[in-house]
Amino acid sequence: MGAIAITGAGSGIGAATRARLQRAGKRVLGVDLRGAEIAVDLGKASGRAQAAREILAASNGELEGLVLCAGLGPSHGSSPLIVSVNYFGAVDLLDRLFDDLKAASPSAAVAISSNSATTVPGIPEELVSAMLEGDEGNSRWVAESVDPTLAYAASKLALARAVRRRAPGWAESGVRLNAVAPGAVRTPLLEAGLADSDLGPLIRAVPIPAGDFGRPEQIAAVIDFLLSDDASFLVGSIVFADGGTDALVKPDRV
Ligand code: NAD
Repeated sequence: MGAIAITGAGSGIGAATRARLQRAGKRVLGVDLRGAEIAVDLGKASGRAQAAREILAASNGELEGLVLCAGLGPSHGSSPLIVSVNYFGAVDLLDRLFDDLKAASPSAAVAISSNSATTVPGIPEELVSAMLEGDEGNSRWVAESVDPTLAYAASKLALARAVRRRAPGWAESGVRLNAVAPGAVRTPLLEAGLADSDLGPLIRAVPIPAGDFGRPEQIAAVIDFLLSDDASFLVGSIVFADGGTDALVKPDRV
């Protein structure tokens, strides 16, 4: 049976995705800082290289899926680290595993962006461009002078663009690449934001037409769909799963 690797599998959306896929009988390889089959720091290039090696070895050349959930929220406070984990921890690992996904094609990968990529005003394009150019050192340097909330949104915007830039070519190799853009979802990441005296009121002020914060299981269901053959015609899609916030704020964005 092919394997599906999930980063950030130890908590929140990653853990819910892991549980859902395992209930369906899938073979899951968890990647996280600790407490997973593969324990690495995706904030470092060496950790990503180790993750790619261990995923390749454990999947026996049959990597049919990859889900990139590992991430840090704005309340973490360090913009350079947010950039390294949220953008490079996803895109660098994705690129390192492309050949393995291709060898197991048809295969699929799902990145986790955020509706902050479209709803947060004032995202610094200089930081987005630096990430997309692939220079982690320069991106971290640019991020030094950026507020963590904007660095978070920039990392998620760059990630969505990185997905769309790769997806058409990858599809020609049998690897479907898409992203989910969640809104506020009840996980430890969100709880930390809500507990922050500056961020908490801002998060609570964001309108959610569906009525409440999301649950990790709701995002896991979208990820499961994007990995499945039912989504075989979805390539480069950024699926907003946010209770309607993006549609409310940017109705004419399409
Ligand atoms: P979470 O904090 O519950 O889980 C994140 C996981 O990533 C944790 O298990 C953590 O250990 C892991 N991680 C963090 N840094 C790491 C590193 N350097 N190396 C390896 N693993 C690392 O958060 P979550 O809410 O489940 O977030 C999952 C993804 O969804 C993140 O990318 C987040 O940005 C995104 N997201 C979350 C929300 C939300 O409201 N919860 C909204 C939009 C997007």
